[in-house]
Amino acid sequence: MKTLNDFNFNNKKALIRVDFNVPLDENFNVTDVNRIEAAKPTIDKILADGGSVILMSHLGRPKGKEEQYSLKHIVDTTSKVLGVDVIFATDCRGEVAQNAAANLQPGQVLLLENLRFYPEEEAGDVAFAKELASLGTIYVNDAFGTAHRAHASTTIIAQFFPNEKCFGLLLAKEIESLNRVLNNSVKPVTAVLGGSKVSSKITVIENILDKVDHMILGGGMTFTFVKALGGKIGDSICEDDKLDLALEILQKAKEKGVQIHIPVDVVAANAFANDAQTQIVDVREIPDGWQGLDAGPKSLENFRKVIMDSKTILWNGPLGVFEMPNFANGTISLGEYIAESTAHGAFSLVGGGDSVAAVKQFGLEEKMSYVSTGGGAMLEMLEGRILPGIQAILD
Ligand code: AMP
Repeated sequence: MKTLNDFNFNNKKALIRVDFNVPLDENFNVTDVNRIEAAKPTIDKILADGGSVILMSHLGRPKGKEEQYSLKHIVDTTSKVLGVDVIFATDCRGEVAQNAAANLQPGQVLLLENLRFYPEEEAGDVAFAKELASLGTIYVNDAFGTAHRAHASTTIIAQFFPNEKCFGLLLAKEIESLNRVLNNSVKPVTAVLGGSKVSSKITVIENILDKVDHMILGGGMTFTFVKALGGKIGDSICEDDKLDLALEILQKAKEKGVQIHIPVDVVAANAFANDAQTQIVDVREIPDGWQGLDAGPKSLENFRKVIMDSKTILWNGPLGVFEMPNFANGTISLGEYIAESTAHGAFSLVGGGDSVAAVKQFGLEEKMSYVSTGGGAMLEMLEGRILPGIQAILD
């Protein structure tokens, strides 16, 4: 796997696909610089080698050239984060881009206008990719968030750099972290899968049954399993067409020697609302009119033991409706157990959408070994797929 450190960038023009799809407020100020900071090590290394940098990104989902999605809004912030005055090209193709790239000197950083101003980007258009490729002398992919898309700048472009292409430091770290969980893991390995539905996690569950010793299943999907096993789940969320599938998963886990842990008690509420009345009940005896919205204390105690005994932990999906403070305890507690186990030497990876949001919201980010930057991309990797953006660098 070729990474940045396998190259010297002296006098090279590095064309880097970054994910600068950052949130902007109503005055077009960047409200979260995480994604820009995440790409900084890659940019720094190239500049330190004596190279120059051409940054390519998308921002939002524009339909053609829409001012509000212009990357010009992020130029000042990017300059501040990088400590370099970023030059902006008002187009990502044509004369504007070509002249800007041609004039670029070692040590300089050029940011191209939003790639998605052209539908060719998402269409994976080969001619568009070739135009982009002509701007630089080496291609670096550091955008994990879009690595699962075969877009022009994330995948198709790589073919124009048969040898001069590599993973950026961020993307390499994502791949390495996932490898440490799925392939080179230290046992016991535990996966915690939460979230709302079994159906959206089924491929992940099936793929990782071969890789883990323990699987904690929580969140809304708990109730599909409990109902399948004959429990009374009241008004809890349930996918009635997935009951057989739930039993199949449990059977497969048994055959593979994977221990499954499902909540034994829940915080049940008489409405899907933060100010609803609540009671702690056995997960198999939820009264009609009540629904389980968070893991209960006995469940958390069980989960804590499993987490503390684990050497490798993967977490995807919340244990309850953490967006409502009264049902966030399970998710917060789980995050704290993982943090504690990590402090004792376990490797922990948090990936995919809501659990990443949760660890950030509850201030636990720094206490995890790695928090992934790509929601959809991480889920696809957990499903066992090789992402097109990653494959294109390996080809
Ligand atoms: P997902 O997108 O599948 O990872 O699901 C995340 C969502 O699941 C979050 O918005 C949670 O609020 C929701 N969730 C977690 N536990 C429950 C539950 N017991 N009932 C309903 N929704 C839940």
